[in-house]
Amino acid sequence: MNFDADLRPPTDYFLRGRRVLTPEGIAPRHLHIRAGKIAAIGPYEAVPAGAPVVDAGDLVVLPGLVDTHVHINDPGRADWEGFATATRAAAAGGVTTVVDMPLNAIPATTTLEGLQAKLRALEEKAFVNVGLCGGLVPENAANVGDLYREGLLAFKCFLAETGVKEFTHVSDRELAAGMKSLAAVNAPLFVHAELPEPLEAAEKALGPLALDPRSYDAWLLARPKSAEDAAVDLVAKTAKSTGARAHIVHLSASSALEVLWRAKDENIALTAETCPHYLTFASEEIADGQTAFKCAPPIREAENREKLWGALKEGSIAQVVTDHSPATIELKCSGSGDFTKAWGGIASLQLGLAIVWTGASARGASLVDVARWMSEMPARLVGLYGQKGCLAVGADADVIFFDPEADFFVDANTLEHKNKITAYQGRTLKGRVARTILGGQTIFTADSALGATFHGAPQGRWLRRN
Ligand SMILES: [Zn+2]
Repeated sequence: MNFDADLRPPTDYFLRGRRVLTPEGIAPRHLHIRAGKIAAIGPYEAVPAGAPVVDAGDLVVLPGLVDTHVHINDPGRADWEGFATATRAAAAGGVTTVVDMPLNAIPATTTLEGLQAKLRALEEKAFVNVGLCGGLVPENAANVGDLYREGLLAFKCFLAETGVKEFTHVSDRELAAGMKSLAAVNAPLFVHAELPEPLEAAEKALGPLALDPRSYDAWLLARPKSAEDAAVDLVAKTAKSTGARAHIVHLSASSALEVLWRAKDENIALTAETCPHYLTFASEEIADGQTAFKCAPPIREAENREKLWGALKEGSIAQVVTDHSPATIELKCSGSGDFTKAWGGIASLQLGLAIVWTGASARGASLVDVARWMSEMPARLVGLYGQKGCLAVGADADVIFFDPEADFFVDANTLEHKNKITAYQGRTLKGRVARTILGGQTIFTADSALGATFHGAPQGRWLRRN
């Protein structure tokens, strides 16, 4: 394939491949792209003579990923991560839609002013499309639903301390008030599910381990599964009593799956996601002082990890999103290795697809599964499915070419996100994004001869909810 010749095809062209994933499965097909959307889908061969064609050959053609959990700390903490760097990382990783979290920027996205500040920060900087998540905090709990009308895709709250003073966690009473307000407008609420009381009790019970701030075991014991179990239970009960739609972000404790199963039996609108790091790493393998692996809730035992994979396969965990949450190298305490002081968060936006494919293929799951977990289900969660999350007639032409057989070595210095630190440093991952297409236009290509290249000015836009 000649990338140079077909980088800027006309606005009306045919994109085809031997392995194109549509809701009907993987088959040789063409997509007729017109004005940035998929106008028609047909057999591989049925392309009119002389029409412009971009041929993916044997690369797998997938819908662009939708990552509904990304922290872009711009404005205010853009030295942690900004729109330009995060969305370049997204484009290189095959993510064509990101949903930005409402905390860590200053101001937080908890008011109309906060939303407007976000919009100014992302203008002309975004390489992929950006949806915004608003924040539910004590100050706006009673009327948080009003903010949904401004075009946000979802809301997020914390049940335990957030780590930043601009964004306070809610009590169970404030959670109920917020969910009532969000139920009235049918907005989904993402919840960081750990409760403060079990966290405090666990920290008190640490004993001598508390004296070793570099100990991973101490960090793990200080964030027990019981804190997640109790929080997920509270969210399920509050979703039931208020009629709100709730979504558990970054589920780590497999023990909380029981609450999800019960909620399903009771028809409670409760979904959950997990993240690449919980599916990849195991606490037994994390050395003391390795604060690149710090996140909350924490990475747990190998046995727990395998239960999360099981839950994904049977559907009680619906999706995998990165929770890309970088900070400066100083804040990650990579020098001192102090888990009590390091910022919690793992940078993986550019690597998510390869990480999940590496683990999924080793466990007998398919690319159809991976696309469901990383594109379809996140798009459904935030009401974008049909426009995003699938290659179907009428959908936006957000498309990636993926080489599932290629492998590569992770070198943080070659990644696009701002601070070159990642827990995946030095790992070999399987699967490489060869091309990313946004609204019909190629924005990123990578191949062994040409290396990685971004094309054109940033053309991502704010995905305002209709
Ligand atoms: Zn997060």
